Amino acid sequence: MTTQTTSVPYMDLNDGNHMPQLGFGVFQVPLEETTEAVAHALRAGYRSIDTAAAYGNEEGVRDALQASGLDRGEVFITTKLFNTEHGRDRARRAFEASLSKLGGDYIDLYLIHWPVPSRGLYEETWETLCALRDEGRVRSIGVSNFQIDHLERIIDATGVVPSVNQIELHPRLQQPELRRFHADRGIATEAWSPLGQGELIDDPVIEEIAAEHDRTPAQVILRWHIQLGNVVIPKSVTPSRIRENFRVFEFELGDEEMRRLSELDRGERMGPDPDTFVKP
Ligand code: NAD
Repeated sequence: MTTQTTSVPYMDLNDGNHMPQLGFGVFQVPLEETTEAVAHALRAGYRSIDTAAAYGNEEGVRDALQASGLDRGEVFITTKLFNTEHGRDRARRAFEASLSKLGGDYIDLYLIHWPVPSRGLYEETWETLCALRDEGRVRSIGVSNFQIDHLERIIDATGVVPSVNQIELHPRLQQPELRRFHADRGIATEAWSPLGQGELIDDPVIEEIAAEHDRTPAQVILRWHIQLGNVVIPKSVTPSRIRENFRVFEFELGDEEMRRLSELDRGERMGPDPDTFVKP
């Protein structure tokens, strides 16, 4: 297949594995559109795809991969365990269901999608992910939407530090405390809704910086994440935007621009609060 040649840097994970710093997210992409969107992303050069059982489109990711002609080992696949599947036995069944939809015999990165603290089962669920990793079914394990107290609890209980915490993160919600905790513990920070679901595109500061570089606002936001050391997984189903979001390695933001972007933090969530969110 023809692909963009720009190479995406790989992040070192705390378990010795590596993942591309830029990937392609498929949240809210209907199953029937997923294969085409992922095919566009693979052609543009993306080699990491972020899906979840809750998105209902894991088969679409598999079909795009199979049609691409790429080897399974060339693409890093992340999926996530649904909120209703916490607990030892359910977690194992949920893993098997995701693996059979995705095809192949392993998943690169398996995440607990939300902690759902009201159920009190995320610690047991984490133990199951640890076992799946020890059995070689998953290469890396991590969590998503975990707050510091949730992370401390699973680390204290198992001694296993998640490789990744995938959290809502964009210029309006910069999560400095959580990111510092990740850095101290060697957890990679992966940003979901890295573009603030598209709502930050017309921010005047971002627009101004974009104009200075002759880039788009989306590229400036993604570049900001890259320079902070975040893993990013922007989503789009529009081929031109899929390509645009991939071209963030050919320019650099200066210190002053990084500082101006850091001042956009409002501590504002666009998505649910991880302490209370139950429904997937
Ligand atoms: P995002 O920040 O990636 O924004 C996507 C939206 O931005 C698109 O729907 C489009 O409207 C717009 N957009 C994209 N590229 C653009 C461009 N170049 N120019 C202008 N507008 C553009 O938001 P997201 O989809 O919520 O997050 C990305 C991925 O993160 C998801 O697909 C999913 O894989 C993951 N995610 C994870 C969780 C979680 O709980 N773990 C939650 C939400 C999303």
